[in-house]
Amino acid sequence: MVLNMQGKRGVVMGVANDRSIAWGIAKALHEAGADLAFTYQGEQLKKRVEPLCASIGCDFLVEADVTDDAKMDEAFAEVKERFGTIDFLVHAIAYSDKAEISGRFSDTTRGNFLNSLNISCYSFIDASRRAAELMPDGGSIVTLTYMGSRSVIPFYNVMGVAKAALEAATRYLANDLGPQKIRVNAISPGPMKTLAGAAVGGARRTFKHAETNSPLRANATLAAVGGTAVWLCSDGGACTTGEIVHVDGGYHVLGMPRPEEMPS
Ligand code: NAD
Repeated sequence: MVLNMQGKRGVVMGVANDRSIAWGIAKALHEAGADLAFTYQGEQLKKRVEPLCASIGCDFLVEADVTDDAKMDEAFAEVKERFGTIDFLVHAIAYSDKAEISGRFSDTTRGNFLNSLNISCYSFIDASRRAAELMPDGGSIVTLTYMGSRSVIPFYNVMGVAKAALEAATRYLANDLGPQKIRVNAISPGPMKTLAGAAVGGARRTFKHAETNSPLRANATLAAVGGTAVWLCSDGGACTTGEIVHVDGGYHVLGMPRPEEMPS
């Protein structure tokens, strides 16, 4: 079975709680048979992430704030020591100052611009390079993006620019790492009820609007994103790289929302 992850090992970055997209992906990878290592942002999150990992029989957690090179060095050294090689990396990390994802994009400050791009995009390039060093037999790298990268979504602001950069990075990494048989893809879910999702201004209305108007009349679920990640990390995704895979009920194909009542 091509979607079988038995015998595959990898790293999941970005679990904060049981609503995190990274957690949905981790559960799906675990159910498909993969062995997992988790990185978490800092000590405060450890108490949330540890019991989740324990619930799937995993005790391999390493702290890694992605802005801290020393922590990233330590984290990937631990992965190398315990796993030797890996088959996949999941990067589900983003950040903007909440104050700048509620007002006008044109008010973005230099400080938050740099910090958001650093955490939400550069960290993917950095983690991919580190992961690739542990993938001598090829592998799969997956990140999470959002359609605010190419269309204006109210209040998504600097995160839209960060996701545009992340999607470009996905294509450049796919080209660099392809000769090593390492595939690099991004999953683009619609709005989801997570900590990061709730931080964006108007989150509830965006969620409802996408649910009401998407062709499937449904938003993404953790299980749906998890299943897509399993496909991309498994041999089922063997010839897919540099791709942005939407898991959004089809919302991204719309040219305009469905009018409440069609004009006569
Ligand atoms: P989340 O809040 O559960 O996850 C975000 C994670 O980023 C957290 O685990 C947090 O600890 C981590 N993070 C932030 N700064 C960090 C740092 N300096 N070092 C290490 N980790 C750091 O929210 P989520 O919605 O699961 O977000 C995961 C990914 O999915 C993000 O890239 C997000 O942009 C993307 N995404 C979310 C939605 C949505 O609506 N929720 C939609 C599309 C894409």
